Amino acid sequence: MSTSHPDYTYQSVAQTRLFEEANRYIPGGVNSPVRAFGSVGGHPVFFKHAKGATLTDEEGKEYIDYINSWGPMILGHSFVPVVEAVVAQLRQATSFGAPTVIETQMARLITEMVPGVEQVRMVNSGTEACMSAIRLARGYTGKEKLIKFAGNYHGHGDPFLIQAGSGALTLGIPNSPGVTQGTAANTLLATYNDLDSVERLVRAHKGEIAALIVEPVAGNMGCIPPVNGFLEGLRAMCSKEGIILIFDEVMTGFRLAPGGAQERFGVTADLVTMGKIIGGGMPVGAFGGSKEIMSAIAPLGPVYQAGTLSGNPVAMTSGLKTLSYLRDHPEVYQQLEEKGSYLANGLKDILQNIPHRINQVGSMISLHFTMTPVVDFASARTGDNEYFRKFYHHMLKHGIYLPPSAYESWFFSMALTQRQMDLTLEAVNSWATP
Ligand code: PLP
Repeated sequence: MSTSHPDYTYQSVAQTRLFEEANRYIPGGVNSPVRAFGSVGGHPVFFKHAKGATLTDEEGKEYIDYINSWGPMILGHSFVPVVEAVVAQLRQATSFGAPTVIETQMARLITEMVPGVEQVRMVNSGTEACMSAIRLARGYTGKEKLIKFAGNYHGHGDPFLIQAGSGALTLGIPNSPGVTQGTAANTLLATYNDLDSVERLVRAHKGEIAALIVEPVAGNMGCIPPVNGFLEGLRAMCSKEGIILIFDEVMTGFRLAPGGAQERFGVTADLVTMGKIIGGGMPVGAFGGSKEIMSAIAPLGPVYQAGTLSGNPVAMTSGLKTLSYLRDHPEVYQQLEEKGSYLANGLKDILQNIPHRINQVGSMISLHFTMTPVVDFASARTGDNEYFRKFYHHMLKHGIYLPPSAYESWFFSMALTQRQMDLTLEAVNSWATP
């Protein structure tokens, strides 16, 4: 295994120039921070084409994709039924700002697939879904405080940027400037997988807490499954105290089961936020719950929420095709489980002499270079980031496209082939035993 600094020399001059040019007009050269390769060094890859589980960069080099647009592309890139449906819709109209039948079909399908959701409101991103769900919970309960978990990420809305995971964690920004003290004071921080930490907050702020939001499987500090009884314990505590339990299923929704983590773990939340897969690669988010709670949203109720492009027919068509395929092909989930186990077992075998932890739930997987079991934010941070950097660039050089941060879960799609998994493990092997 290499002990030198990461080798960036394999990155092409042409790609470096593309990044330099992007930096002239875009802050940091990217439209979302973690893409900038800040934590692994070197520069990001500029892509132009993708099919199945294969990405092709601007110069024609191919990569096996373990990011899948950070989750959405569960069916693989350029999946023909989705592409054809979107192209047909583009010829009809791109946006009306008025109701379409596709929105009703999409909402009905979501209510059929996602436990506990009787009504759903479409938005344009996971961030919007989580922001709106919190406002709804506050408006519905008349209370102001919110519990979130350190290392969980719920988008870049002000109330969530308190020890958030993902890009904020990668860049070491625990609390973003620009978030007011008043906002921060209403966000209470608990420890993931630790029910006692939640109970202490509930006791200290009795009657003040509107909502508790949680990633039912954390995916923004690597992949961290809930320990036995954690989700059930949250459910019981929220029911007892009149707190709205929000499952942020932006990552896990339609990925861990057709009905997401709720179905997989048999625990039903009061509100669910969704994103990523729900748009099949288009910008879509959603939040939903019982009719009783959702009726508090405008125009039925007083809690305001709106969006010019929300539910637009192109994005809805992409999402509807993707979700319908998943509903009609439940075998996809079994195949994803098998691929996940194959990769996790292969990695464990190859890395047996290197301190590491692999966490895997279905098609979410992460590798932490630490001896400590990774169960929460603190343990996720024990990983050796310098080591990860070198590993990362070794893999990229060999055409394996992993998330450029130790704090991100890998996602794979049903398009990932046996040969691609074996090539991936070969690349890991050449790292571990050069
Ligand atoms: N919630 C979770 C669990 C996420 O992982 C993300 C994004 O990665 C979000 C919310 C925010 O979604 P978006 O990036 O679409 O705004």
